[in-house]
Amino acid sequence: MARPYPPGARLLARPDAVRPCAGCGAPLGRGYPACATCADTVDAYWRADWEALRGGEDDRDLAATVLGEVAGVYPWTCTDWALRLVPCPACRAELGTGDPGCVTCSRADQARWAWDHTGMPAAMTPNEHALRVAVAVLRAAERRRGSVVAFWRLTLPFLLVGDTFTTAQARRIRVLLLAGRAEELADARGYAAMTSIPDLPWRG
Ligand SMILES: [Zn+2]
Ligand SMILES: [Zn+2]
Repeated sequence: MARPYPPGARLLARPDAVRPCAGCGAPLGRGYPACATCADTVDAYWRADWEALRGGEDDRDLAATVLGEVAGVYPWTCTDWALRLVPCPACRAELGTGDPGCVTCSRADQARWAWDHTGMPAAMTPNEHALRVAVAVLRAAERRRGSVVAFWRLTLPFLLVGDTFTTAQARRIRVLLLAGRAEELADARGYAAMTSIPDLPWRG
């Protein structure tokens, strides 16, 4: 398929505001994927694209077709969904999420980013890219550093409503996380509020 690559995650409208999750009480999305309500809400954007592509075809057959193509031929959401439907032949986990030592999972996870790391295609906004990374990281949390997982968990509810952080905001949030300010960050209502948390702790 010629460029631009097909868009993903655009069939459903995003929520218009961050609200508490009826399941876990956190801002909706922050409980991903352990909280079923958070997971269903976030995954709906992936599932909608998959169902539109699938038609009447068998899930596993279509997953094999999608994963047999280079990344970018199908919507990125469908590549991600196909990975979920195929167990890793080496470690049996969801493909790309298995034990940190599983090379087959590492290869599958890397392949899906092949095109969107080479420059932002017109078919994917920075918000969509960040949302994709957040979901991939949270589904394979044991493969990532704790501070990385915490960063994406914090930011996912705001990504879900379409907000995109700047590079400077991301850097500031990461610094605050490393400084042990996770609780204050979790209470903040958006990236601007997160990044305006002052340097000095109250007990200064
Ligand atoms: Zn929840
Ligand atoms: Zn594996």
